[in-house]
Parts: sequence; structure tokens; C-alpha cells
Amino acid sequence: MRAEAAAGRAGGIVGLVPTMGFFHEGHLSLMRAARAECGLAVVSLFVNPTQFGPGEDLAAYPKDFDRDCALAAAEGIDIMFAPEPGEVYASDHATFVNVERITAGLCGASRPVHFRGVATVVAKLFNICRPRRAYFGLKDYQQARAIETMIRDLNFDVDLVRCPIVREPDGVAMSSRNTYLSPEERRAAPVLRRSLVAAGQGIERGERDAGAVARQLCHAIETEPLARVDYAEVVDADSLAPLTRIGRAALLAVAVQIGRARLIDNLVVETAS
Ligand code: AMP
Repeated sequence: MRAEAAAGRAGGIVGLVPTMGFFHEGHLSLMRAARAECGLAVVSLFVNPTQFGPGEDLAAYPKDFDRDCALAAAEGIDIMFAPEPGEVYASDHATFVNVERITAGLCGASRPVHFRGVATVVAKLFNICRPRRAYFGLKDYQQARAIETMIRDLNFDVDLVRCPIVREPDGVAMSSRNTYLSPEERRAAPVLRRSLVAAGQGIERGERDAGAVARQLCHAIETEPLARVDYAEVVDADSLAPLTRIGRAALLAVAVQIGRARLIDNLVVETAS
């Protein structure tokens, strides 16, 4: 991979799209951006064991390598980098990247080892591929902020490109984990987006009490009997610190268990005051 990236660098910048595979339009939108902006467009496909906690869905994570290769090729991706876990981690791997503070709340609170695993594998992918640009989706908003922080703090020569959330026609954010949903659960899933939009409208009408917005968000999700709220929070869109009053840019973020699937979604609401 190092040699291919070095050779490719002669023809332009390297763009990297880190993924865990089982591609959908969200992944493909990142690939299109990388293809349009970079000389060498690399997609990594690695279901990273260190970002899954005990009892999470590492073993069950959906896979279809042949379909993924065909989809990436159809987007004009130059290299699909799909290493085995044993190639990525030495049996006595001992070094981890911990991005503090920004990973403390939201998904970091429910998934204690998650962002340590994400930051570690992304640092490794950056060192292996040496991309100039790396493409991340805003569906995983906290992940994008954590990697932006790591890039700044560890002086990686990489620009993170934030890509918008791609949704199904009924508003559900595309996710490989949507395949865990039964038809009935899938019909319940639009409650995330619907509740976020309603809470955002409350802010647009003048609500500035972050606690009130978070409670409204939580209640709206709980109207769906199949949904169990993991968190529903209103935080500062940059620091991800909890807000009491809504300021310039607030992130409304939710994680909801529906059946076997833990679904996440978010909305950034910008206000003039
Ligand atoms: P994953 O394979 O789920 O780890 O996702 C790989 C990349 O695709 C991450 O940067 C995600 O944020 C991004 N991604 C996943 N789903 C979506 C979506 N619905 N819209 C935009 N980006 C997404």
C-alpha cells in the first residue's frame, strides 16, 4: 500500500476514504468526492476490532466484499485497501491514540473504547497511505470532530473533508447497520430524523433552553414504542460540550436502539444569537 501510494502521489494528491465496508450511497458519496478531488483515490475497508466493545456487533457486522469491490470500481476508485486484522495489529500491539474531551460524551459515554479504536486505526491508515485529504461523513459527527482534533494535535498533514449525511427517501440516515432492522423496525426508524427536525424547528422559533430542547427530542423519540433512547443531547457543535443555552451552532445528536440496531443521527442548528 505504501509503495502504491508513493507511486500514485507522482500523479497528484492521495485521497483516502476509510470505511468498514458493506457500501451504501453514503459511502459512495465520499468516494465520489475523493475521486473528483484527488489523483489517487484510495478506499480502505477494515472492520476494525479495536473500536468494538465486548458484546458489540463485531462478529455480526455485515460483509459483502465482492459487491463492495464492484461498487468502488464503478466509482473509479484506484485502490481498495482491505487488510486482515493480523496485518494491521501486531499480536502485542501496544500503542493507542486517545483523543480526550471531545470523545467523553455522546457515543464515547456509551461506547468507552470506541473512539480510541477509531483514532488509532485512522492514525495507522494515515501513516500507511499518507493521504493529503481524508473523507468522513457527518453522520458520524463526533468521529469527524475527533479525527479533526487528532489531525491538529498530532500534526498530520491531512485535510479532513466533511461530507453531508446521505438519507433514504423517508429520512433515515443510510447505515450498514440498517440491515439489522426487521421490516417493522425499519418502519419505526424515521423517528430519529423526524424528532431532530421538530426539535430544530423549536430552536428556529426561538427556543434557547438546551435542556428543554433535549427533553423535547427525547420525548418525541419515545413516542415510537420500538425505540429506546440511548442519548438525546444538545451540545456545542465544535467542542461537543453540553450546552445550557443554545448559542451560535448547536449539535442535536441522538443514539437510539431499535431491535438489534443502535442507530445514530444528528442535526446542526445555527442561530444568529
Ligand atoms: P462506516 O463504514 O460506517 O465506518 O462509514 C465509513 C464512512 O462513511 C464514515 O466517514 C461515515 O461517516 C460515512 N458514512 C456512513 N454513513 C453515511 C451516510 N449516511 N451519509 C454520509 N456519510 C456516511
